[in-house]
Amino acid sequence: MKAALILVGTELLNGGMLDTNSLYIAEELNKYGIEIEFKITVRDFMDEILKTIDYAKKNVDLVIMSGGLGPTIDDITKEAIGKYLNKPLIVEDNELAELKEKFKKANINFIKINVKEVEKPQGAVSFKNDVGMAPAIYIDGIAAFPGVPRELYNMFPKFISWYSKEKKLLKDGIYIKDILTFGMAESLLDESIREFFTEDGIYYEFLVKNYGILIRLQSTESNKNKVEKIVEKIYNKIGVYIFGEDEDRLEKKVVQMVTDLGMNISTAESCTGGMIASRLVDVPGVSSVLKEGVVTYSNEAKIKRLGVKKETLEKYGAVSEETVREMVLGLDSDIAIATTGIAGPDGGTQEKPVGLVYIGIRVKDKVYVERKIFNGSRNKVRERAMLQSLFSLIKILKKGESNE
Ligand code: AMP
Ligand code: MG
Repeated sequence: MKAALILVGTELLNGGMLDTNSLYIAEELNKYGIEIEFKITVRDFMDEILKTIDYAKKNVDLVIMSGGLGPTIDDITKEAIGKYLNKPLIVEDNELAELKEKFKKANINFIKINVKEVEKPQGAVSFKNDVGMAPAIYIDGIAAFPGVPRELYNMFPKFISWYSKEKKLLKDGIYIKDILTFGMAESLLDESIREFFTEDGIYYEFLVKNYGILIRLQSTESNKNKVEKIVEKIYNKIGVYIFGEDEDRLEKKVVQMVTDLGMNISTAESCTGGMIASRLVDVPGVSSVLKEGVVTYSNEAKIKRLGVKKETLEKYGAVSEETVREMVLGLDSDIAIATTGIAGPDGGTQEKPVGLVYIGIRVKDKVYVERKIFNGSRNKVRERAMLQSLFSLIKILKKGESNE
């Protein structure tokens, strides 16, 4: 089955806004084995939208539109669909009543133009909008969603599960397994796992995410056991680079592991400037394990807050193994992470280049220090140091577990 996306919105073509909706839709369709042949972005102009719908309808089975469902004068997507299909726009009483109720609850005055939000071409099916006003609609191979991403995220799953049932798409459901890796380049990953995919109908792809590289294995439900066997082989071969599966994230994993150990954790950050603590705080429930996070940027702070020795700083410098070791020893918790590095763009030397970061990790009284050189801009270096710190801690805690 083939689909096309039409992203409607002048702001998407004048530099005002980046289209992210198509990324989301693509990932969701992927799960159902629906391919996207193309996507077209158009302005809020009737003739341009009509032309695009016509082209899409002539080439694919399913047309998915986003944008232009609001109440304002530039919101004309549903009108365009009605025009294209020769269907008048109608309003269903129950949908209008529901909309009015929403306005009442939100304490907003309902005015006449708001009726437009529930207008739809005659015969269209609606999907309930739990987070906004206008429902999504579907009619004759065309689905239309609001442009607001969170409204799309609310209604798209409802639509696609209805649609796939309607079209009996899932004779055999799709089975997806995501393996999350860190620290191994995509090309090397590919080289390592390629040999396991000899069977027809079991695919893999790499998705580079901001937390590492995700290996997505995809097949049908009936192949689940075969996929799991491949997963096992992948673990055996590159397990040290794997930190989790599916919804796991580095920070989630850290919080979960520290919680399971009944320990607590603190951070002392120089070049990462609080990024590690901030990532940990992203995780609900972190309060039971995170003791404190300090940003000890200056030498003075490293001495005062962490008890790093002045002589150490003078002899080895702030960016050194010795300093990061004393930083983690200066934190009063079971587990400690510290970073000190040269994020750049200036300040590098031959001996200590830009991108050099020392990561210190302490678990009880055992201290581990890693020396890494990261590429990229100042922020990339900082981000990579943060991710590496979390990943290294996971590795250390895992080893601890297997030694017991
Ligand atoms: P609309 O449904 O056209 O009223 O869109 C409402 C808002 O959603 C726009 O102002 C944009 O901020 C946002 N938006 C529209 N289309 C997209 C898109 N393709 N990706 C991300 N955001 C979008
Ligand atoms: Mg718009």
